[in-house]
Amino acid sequence: MNSHSYITFPIFKSYPELFCVFSTRIGGFSQGEYFTMNMGLNSGDNLVNVKKNRRHLFELLNIDENKLAIPKQVHSVSVKKVTKPGIYSDTDALCTNSVEIFLSIQTADCLPMFIYEPDKKVVAVIHSGWQGSLNGIVPETLEKLVNEYAIQTINLKVAIGPGIQSSCYEVREDVFSRFPDEFLNQHEDKEKKYLDLQSFIKNQLINQGVVGKNIYIDSSCTHCDTQKYYSYRRDKDKSGRMMGIIGLH
Ligand SMILES: [Zn+2]
Repeated sequence: MNSHSYITFPIFKSYPELFCVFSTRIGGFSQGEYFTMNMGLNSGDNLVNVKKNRRHLFELLNIDENKLAIPKQVHSVSVKKVTKPGIYSDTDALCTNSVEIFLSIQTADCLPMFIYEPDKKVVAVIHSGWQGSLNGIVPETLEKLVNEYAIQTINLKVAIGPGIQSSCYEVREDVFSRFPDEFLNQHEDKEKKYLDLQSFIKNQLINQGVVGKNIYIDSSCTHCDTQKYYSYRRDKDKSGRMMGIIGLH
């Protein structure tokens, strides 16, 4: 058993009914560039190894793979309400208030977001890259939670998991020209601009009524931490994927 194979978030610590983890690349079976715990079935890796990795992680976490809800992520603003496990096409966010359904996402640089409303016992997961974030996947998800479950955003607890950080997230002009200046940084090279997607999303959350102290942002950079995380930008088409999972027992 290798507890380094996943991380948890301190903001969810006081809720025993809540299950929330994010996998690392440590402790699996994949070889070469994909070392070692690649969870991505469509990442170009040997499928036998990926399936072994998945089985290994679910055993470690003591959850049944058949209870997962899995979105086919497309950088959209589509949010789906989930009442049974299975595959959800063309969507980048899922929510549920059903127990024993585990909402999942896969990332490698894009931000994995996990949301819990402890009063109504509602969970949500979001896959948020620059495109989905800019187009409003985060406010769309919060509106869905308000409309479907009558939650109050002031009660939400949010964890933004490991992703690419602003220090590494250089973006092209056609991307940065679409973001407000306050979320763009410059380093030594004044020609280059770096997107602070975490701050952009935090600002969206606060605009929707989420309280600042209820937002946890993991400071790990997937692009820098070669040993612990996959990075699509760094590893390109040889990049594995981490998996984030949230659900209610
Ligand atoms: Zn970095």
